[in-house]
Amino acid sequence: MTAQVIDGKKIAAEIRKNLAERVAANEDSPVLAVVLVGENEASKIYVRNKKKAAAEVGIICEVFEFAETIGENALLASIEELNENPHVNGIIVQLPLPKQINPLKVLSCINPQKDVDGFSPYNIGLLASKEDEAVVAATPKGILSLLKSTGVDLCGKHAVIIGRSNIVGRPVSLLLLNNDCTVTITHSKTVGLAEIVRQADVLVAACGCPKMVKKDWIKPGAIIIDVGINRLEDGKLCGDVDFEKVSEVASYITPVPGGVGPMTVAMLLENTLEAAQKQKNSNKHHHCHCGKCHHN
Ligand code: NAD
Repeated sequence: MTAQVIDGKKIAAEIRKNLAERVAANEDSPVLAVVLVGENEASKIYVRNKKKAAAEVGIICEVFEFAETIGENALLASIEELNENPHVNGIIVQLPLPKQINPLKVLSCINPQKDVDGFSPYNIGLLASKEDEAVVAATPKGILSLLKSTGVDLCGKHAVIIGRSNIVGRPVSLLLLNNDCTVTITHSKTVGLAEIVRQADVLVAACGCPKMVKKDWIKPGAIIIDVGINRLEDGKLCGDVDFEKVSEVASYITPVPGGVGPMTVAMLLENTLEAAQKQKNSNKHHHCHCGKCHHN
């Protein structure tokens, strides 16, 4: 068998085109506020890319830059201001943050309705309790979208996730569980990783170990989603999966680059548009979630 390559670049381009049309159909452009603290070079590049991608679909992206030395309270106060600002639909805080700032406090401070990264404990909690209104983080959401693009029914499939980080491994595990997969989460302390991966109908590799997943770890016909982005000595990028060899046994596989990566930004933009639309609707109608009253 030779695996079919899941073209994340193409799928993401279609999603962005669709987003651009939906944004154009609205009166107001959604506004995404990006909070950037300090001088992390990688963070600056990510923010620049997000801004460019947002502009392409008609989303306004405003970057709020703060000095590396900013105190926690000052940063929290600025986020509160963005929470209160009716003009702002989405707020993301570029991680990592400087040492003096507790990221959990900062993420907890973001209004859950504006938390378009889906990293706040509130949205993670909604995802963990299988609530449809959870804002799902961009990378996991992109992974699900790539899986769905294959047309394969996920129900009952054994999904093995390599990695348990807050931004990929954990949320993607919850999302696949909510989509009726049987989920096994593995990590750096897992014993017998290859043996577990051999049972996977769906494998999501998100550990940041170049080409770690080998051909003989793969159940024939498995679907492989490679989240890893690793830079090799020759400057080339590669994933966590040995793409060439694994392609010989898998049914579907994502390439690196051009797989999960392009989906992540597209999903952030989709979350921003959806947040803007929800806010617009809830301004029109009073929405009460008390469970007792029936106002709408
Ligand atoms: P992380 O470093 O926060 O977490 C890595 C996880 O992998 C940990 O839970 C760890 O326990 C596990 N792990 C590490 N070594 C392992 C091993 N040998 N065997 C099994 N498990 C192991 O990383 P992250 O932020 O979750 O990112 C993972 C990878 O995905 C990185 O390469 C990152 O660059 C990439 N990434 C890509 C995107 C994208 O949009 N494509 C988004 C986020 C992260």
